[in-house]
Amino acid sequence: MFSLMHQAALEELHVYQRGPLRAVIALHNLKLGPALGGCRFIEYDDEQSAINDAIRLARGMSYKAALARVPQGGGKSVIMKPKGDFDRQALFKLFAQCIDELGGRYITAMDSGTQVEDMDCMRELTPYVSSSSNIGDPSPSTAKGVALGIQTAVSFALSSDLAGVKVAIQGLGHVGMALAAHLHKAGAALYVADIDASKTAYAQQYFNADVVPVDRIHAQAVDVFAPCGLGGAIHENSIHELDCKIIAGCANNQLADASLGDQLHQRGVLYVPDYVINSGGLIFASSRYRGMGEQEIDRSISKLKDTLNTIFTLAQSKDTPTHRIADEMAEQILYG
Ligand code: NAD
Repeated sequence: MFSLMHQAALEELHVYQRGPLRAVIALHNLKLGPALGGCRFIEYDDEQSAINDAIRLARGMSYKAALARVPQGGGKSVIMKPKGDFDRQALFKLFAQCIDELGGRYITAMDSGTQVEDMDCMRELTPYVSSSSNIGDPSPSTAKGVALGIQTAVSFALSSDLAGVKVAIQGLGHVGMALAAHLHKAGAALYVADIDASKTAYAQQYFNADVVPVDRIHAQAVDVFAPCGLGGAIHENSIHELDCKIIAGCANNQLADASLGDQLHQRGVLYVPDYVINSGGLIFASSRYRGMGEQEIDRSISKLKDTLNTIFTLAQSKDTPTHRIADEMAEQILYG
């Protein structure tokens, strides 16, 4: 356990077994402020998988917060979803007590498997909840940041604005659909895929998008491939089929492993690091939690442009992949 924490430079690991609740809270680095990160509620094969997931995700949140310049540390929690019947409210109430006992060092939010109702339920017992219904949905802010990130990458790599630029969007969920709206408004030509045909039909009707089979969206001949579904879109098979100049989307953990980012760099594909381009949601959650308004949130999101241009310029001048430059910049802030 300690070697795992040491490897990830994790500051605190809290493991809870209370009644039916089995949960983990991982606090990675609190240098910049209290940790803010979602609570995952999914089935895990065993405790070790739950702990590994929490640690990996908490570390990612520290890096994301550092480059988004929000005064938050990195943390994440997971509740192991019980198999069979369970009392959901009772479970989240027990978890709220655990969060409250940390005295504000960890602020929770929604993540895979959790809903706004779970956040509202916890908010009755602890103030350290950032995605309750009074705070709102972070997805529009994430989409705004991703649209700005794509525009910045297109300007850097193709010396162009978005008019006529071809973008393939994989996944039209909360973020992907809002991104499609932004890009369509800016004049981009869209290619879309989703396992839910009603979503692609909507994009076809309202954004004039071409609908592409789910298993071919990554291989479209486009300027930008935007992974906006699940993680791991760039893996050892899909990487050979890519036909784009830029990869920029909202999905977390787009590279199945870091060496794929090195391959993209060698091939001259500009990869926009996922945790940088998708940080609009964190900016929203942190800002709203601290009582800020829409204009301040937009101002913070707009700073993404400078951060990305710095990453692209350094990657070019040092001949180093963008994901490694982003990590170095975050580590400089966290440990420098
Ligand atoms: P979502 O669940 O609303 O949307 C995901 C979409 O992807 C769905 O429409 C789903 O049908 C589709 N999809 C699933 N598998 C697919 C496949 N194989 N091919 C094509 N489409 C597929 O999720 P979301 O909130 O839009 O988030 C999308 C991604 O962005 C996730 O990886 C999430 O972790 C990440 N992210 C989201 C936010 C946010 O503010 N919501 C912030 C940061 C990162």
